[in-house]
Formats: sequence, structure tokens, C-alpha cells
Amino acid sequence: MSPEPRVCWICQKRAFDRTRDAGGPQCCRECGNKVIEPFEFAWKKLHSYLTAHWADIVKLGRFDLSKAFPQDSRIGALRVHLYFVAALGTRLATEAVGLDLEPFVSSLLERRPHADVSLFVADARVDPGGLRLYDSDLHLLRNQDEEVHSALWYHLAHPVTIKVNYLKPGAPLCPPPGHPWHPVRQRKLVMLSPYRGEATRRDTLQSLRI
Ligand SMILES: [Zn+2]
Repeated sequence: MSPEPRVCWICQKRAFDRTRDAGGPQCCRECGNKVIEPFEFAWKKLHSYLTAHWADIVKLGRFDLSKAFPQDSRIGALRVHLYFVAALGTRLATEAVGLDLEPFVSSLLERRPHADVSLFVADARVDPGGLRLYDSDLHLLRNQDEEVHSALWYHLAHPVTIKVNYLKPGAPLCPPPGHPWHPVRQRKLVMLSPYRGEATRRDTLQSLRI
């Protein structure tokens, strides 16, 4: 793994703030306070709602955003999306994978969705006493020129797992199984997705079907 970046990957100016919670998006103190904090607040709010109703949500296979964000589910969904755009961007910057992060930075600063990042909400299926908080490694798929075509990262906050997936437009890949949740395709109902599974190459999938 490459060393952590010494400057904040969002503003590209100030030093990294090492006091921030390692589980959340890391950046400089100012970007943390001004850019990320409102997104982090929305995720905590959604997580509280999901945790309180998780057994029923798993039975139904979906949840209603307007219950978690009664005042404005559209803004709530956008902020949760941006929180995880920041989380995935942090991992991509930290591991210096060679992906252009400008679209991540501009969506955070302009508070608009990243077109190529979707979330999948899954049941963590952790036994009592098992892991309660877990951040996965970054799963990358590259083409023969080493260009990143897909990046997937999981955040488990028991009992909920959020899978954050970047998919390069036009890449010959099938997205992870399940129901991508993206603020542009605005729906109040968010469907749960399987815990396992990541993007697969179309040719791999075809050969598996033979
Ligand atoms: Zn910064």
C-alpha cells in the first residue's frame, strides 16, 4: 500500500487531519468541518433510523427514505451519497490507485451527485458478538492498461452494510448484484441488496452462464 497522502485530497492545500475518526472520510480539519460534517450528520441520522427498524426492513427488503428524513428525503439522500463519495475518495487517494479524483472533489464541493458512484444497502449478517464496525479493503478491477474500471468498498456499521461502488462509464462490467441507490434516480423506497458480490466482467459472467 502507498503511504497516506500528506495533503488533504479535497482542497489539495492543507495538511491531513490525523485526529479525525479513522473510520470516516479523512481530509484536513477545514474540509472535515465545512465539507464533510453535514454529510456525516445525514449518514448518522439514516443509520439511527435503520438500526431502530432493521428487523422490519430486512423482512420487507426495503426502507422508506421519507421516514428517515421526514423534512426532505431528497437532500438527505444526496448528503448520505456524498458522505460515501468522500469515504470512497479517501480510500482511492490513500492507496494512490491512479484514478482521477477531480469528479469526486467537484461533487463534494458543489454538493451534487457523483454520476459514477452508487450505494448498495445490505444486511450485515453479523452474529451477536461478532464485528460491529468494519471497513473492507478496496476491491479494484482494472483493464489490461491498468486503468481502474471499478472500485468497491464496504462499510459495516452493525447491522447495516453500505457498499460503495465506482463504475467507470462504458466499462465492460456488470455492476454488483442488487439495487444501486443513487440520488439522481430519486425514489423514496430503497431496496436492500445482497451482502456479497462485486462488479464482474461481462465476458466472465457470460462464461459462467455457459
Ligand atoms: Zn482540505
